[in-house]
Amino acid sequence: MPHKPDTNAITAGRSETSALSPAIWPNTVWETASLEEATQKATGARSESFYSRFANPTVTQFESAIATLEGAEAALAFGSGMGAIASVILAFCGQGSHIVAQNNLYGATLSFLQGPCARFGIDTTFVDPAIPGSFASAVITGKTMLVIAETPSNPRLAITNLAELGAISGPFTVVDSTLATPMGQRPLDFGIDLVIHSATKGIGGNNDALLGVVAGEKDLVDAVWGYAVMHGASASPYDAANALRGIRTMGVRVQRQNESALVLARSLEGHSKILSVSHPFLESHAQHELARSQMRYGGTVLAVELNGDFATCNTFVSSLKLAHIATSFGGPETLVCHPATSTHVGLSAESLASMGVTDGLLRFSVGLEDAEDLVDDIHSALAAL
Ligand code: PLP
Repeated sequence: MPHKPDTNAITAGRSETSALSPAIWPNTVWETASLEEATQKATGARSESFYSRFANPTVTQFESAIATLEGAEAALAFGSGMGAIASVILAFCGQGSHIVAQNNLYGATLSFLQGPCARFGIDTTFVDPAIPGSFASAVITGKTMLVIAETPSNPRLAITNLAELGAISGPFTVVDSTLATPMGQRPLDFGIDLVIHSATKGIGGNNDALLGVVAGEKDLVDAVWGYAVMHGASASPYDAANALRGIRTMGVRVQRQNESALVLARSLEGHSKILSVSHPFLESHAQHELARSQMRYGGTVLAVELNGDFATCNTFVSSLKLAHIATSFGGPETLVCHPATSTHVGLSAESLASMGVTDGLLRFSVGLEDAEDLVDDIHSALAAL
């Protein structure tokens, strides 16, 4: 019988040695027995014991853990989530290619599609993921190479229907599953071709690993590697080791953070100084049933829209004692950020409006503190407004 996700988080990506925690291989290069062997390794895919941009044992261990957790044949790690996203796009697209992407992606992914990709002649049609069939109807046969979604979306926590996306044939379907973590959902089970994570977030889980990863069928991941080895956004073995340590505790972390996020969300709903509170597992979330049907956990991020503007948010966050003002998520400490002026800064007013990133919106990353203490802290800061 296959093991459950929490067991996989402990057993996946073990090294062949008896060491229970990963050995860090800092070396960049290995000796080959002959010039012929060097040629063989230089021309092979993902050659081991050759050069760390091709493969590194600590990074391979991390990749193997992610492949198991996502139910994938293979995975490939990168030096950041954006390294993974940019490499997947550039591995499959060139001048004249077309992409269908949801209109409420993470800010830097949107900026990459609207900026460098447009400059390279890669055209993107942005669609509203909440409209059934919107991705499929924007596909141009023979031209669309990729369909890109992010669910839950950062920061508004919109949910994209994975089964509907997985049924699209022709272009490769790609899902950024960062906010869910592999504990929260497995997009490949719904027929998605490639799942991407910023492992900097809930996978690493300790704010000490900058990493990205893509997982899917071996042929596809090898094709991404064929481009990525030249692009060079390679993962560091130190970060891979930290992320492997993070993976071991991911099951309990994500479960607890998801529970605390819900406690916090419920305590804030209906507060006079708050316009809206969003979490995928909150009954009031517009796509709550869809979220419950495709996710094990709704995630550790909360979107809270204050009845006010930037100044209101500024006053509120300055009064918080536990939540730190910081832009990441998925770590042990509760964080708060103002997406319009940080994670999504630089996007047009139109883009921000289309994804509901208003001046009053704050994104919380719920940490591992006691939920009651978090509730008290946030309610005290609201009272001070
Ligand atoms: N995808 C999502 C959904 C994100 O939230 C982020 C970062 O916040 C990224 C990708 C980029 O990840 P990284 O910062 O590791 O490059």
